[in-house]
Amino acid sequence: MAPSYKPVPLVGAAFSSNSRTGGSVPAAFDTFLYQPTGGFKHVKLTIKLKISLKQARGFLPVRLDADNKPFLTTPWTDAQWSAFVNSASAQANLWNNRFWLVPPPAFSGLDEVYQKDPFFNKFPNKIFRPNLLCALEVDFSPASGAHRTIEVTNLNAAFITATGRVPDPGVFRSHAFLYDSFDATPWAFPLGHAPGMPASHPVIAHEIGHAIGLDHIGVLTKAPICQLAANLNTANVDRYLPAGSPLAGGTNALVCYGSTNAALAGNIMGAGQAFSSENARPWLWALYTLLDKLLDKPEPITEKAKWRVVMTDPGPGRWIDNGLDIITSDPGPVRVTANDDSLIRISGDVLFDTDKSNIKPEANAALEKAAADIKARIGPRLRYVLINGHTDATGSADYNQRLSEARAKAAADWFVTRKYLERAKIRTQGFGKTQPLSPNTDEPGRAKNRRVELHIVNS
Ligand SMILES: [Zn+2]
Repeated sequence: MAPSYKPVPLVGAAFSSNSRTGGSVPAAFDTFLYQPTGGFKHVKLTIKLKISLKQARGFLPVRLDADNKPFLTTPWTDAQWSAFVNSASAQANLWNNRFWLVPPPAFSGLDEVYQKDPFFNKFPNKIFRPNLLCALEVDFSPASGAHRTIEVTNLNAAFITATGRVPDPGVFRSHAFLYDSFDATPWAFPLGHAPGMPASHPVIAHEIGHAIGLDHIGVLTKAPICQLAANLNTANVDRYLPAGSPLAGGTNALVCYGSTNAALAGNIMGAGQAFSSENARPWLWALYTLLDKLLDKPEPITEKAKWRVVMTDPGPGRWIDNGLDIITSDPGPVRVTANDDSLIRISGDVLFDTDKSNIKPEANAALEKAAADIKARIGPRLRYVLINGHTDATGSADYNQRLSEARAKAAADWFVTRKYLERAKIRTQGFGKTQPLSPNTDEPGRAKNRRVELHIVNS
């Protein structure tokens, strides 16, 4: 059974927990679902992150990095600072529009979003089920309410050469609360010194990953060597490792950046610049939080876990036709030709009273005959039976459209109730007065146009 949902079109929540990240990095951000308007677009799941970037100031022109190594620094000029903030925005934007979330087939929690949209009202018989586009917006100078404050130190370029930093106590290692001016440019990560390792790493983008709750790629993928490093650290025995060991440092150990696994090292949460579906987890956490607000009662995590992360645009969503069948493309009308031998046509006057859409008792004989005809024509690979309603031209287009849809549905219900067809094997459509068989100028012509057509679609 599909779970029940309480539709709330627009939902926002603050996410502030690392309980779901399971990592060492506390995440805090705001998250919202945005409804698209006027067309086939995704619902947008936006993470909003407010980071207050501050120029690092100190009494001494020396700053310690993540490894407590000292570096010479210099005050920021206005031009340097604004260039840095611009490049920080550009790197943060690497996370934007990178992932899509596809709901499980039974998920109906966002149906109402689209039923209220004027664009989708044109398809009253169909429901649009959107896919979610994952967006990230980072505000680096929020007026208030920053989720975190990050200092940025301006390394003294006079002590830095093209090949490294001189005097070189290593490379300044930024961390989640302290960036350096060189992070503006994708930089050879410490691992870049090793052969085969990526040479270029957008450090700020990496740190943004931490800010939204992601741990290093070895942690995300549960790489055994990274788990070993974490365990050595937890047991407090990694201090016996030789200096510079790739296993030292717990989840910050080089092996957790993928130093022994080039595929992992290439990841943004390793030492490279590639993204993988593991990197989409903050949006899943945001989604789970929002779903709990959206639904009547929270779904079990097993239901939530059925959402899929995809890395290429899966399209805006899919159509559900009357809740009966899932179709994956635009619901353009399926045309049936008059001489198609899979076509069964029943007079509307036989099935319905004027202006009514409930089946008359006298219609049973005609429908029983149709059921026998369908059975005779169903092939071994029935895709579905298409049931189309048509009206004459009396009355407005809108009225006839709705009447034809209701009549097609009523006919579908008749076959399902009597177990002639499975509900999942039926699609219904209404054409109103748009497809007359004869002129609507006299009553015999109008009677001919009032009809239900059954079309057997084998594959
Ligand atoms: Zn890191």
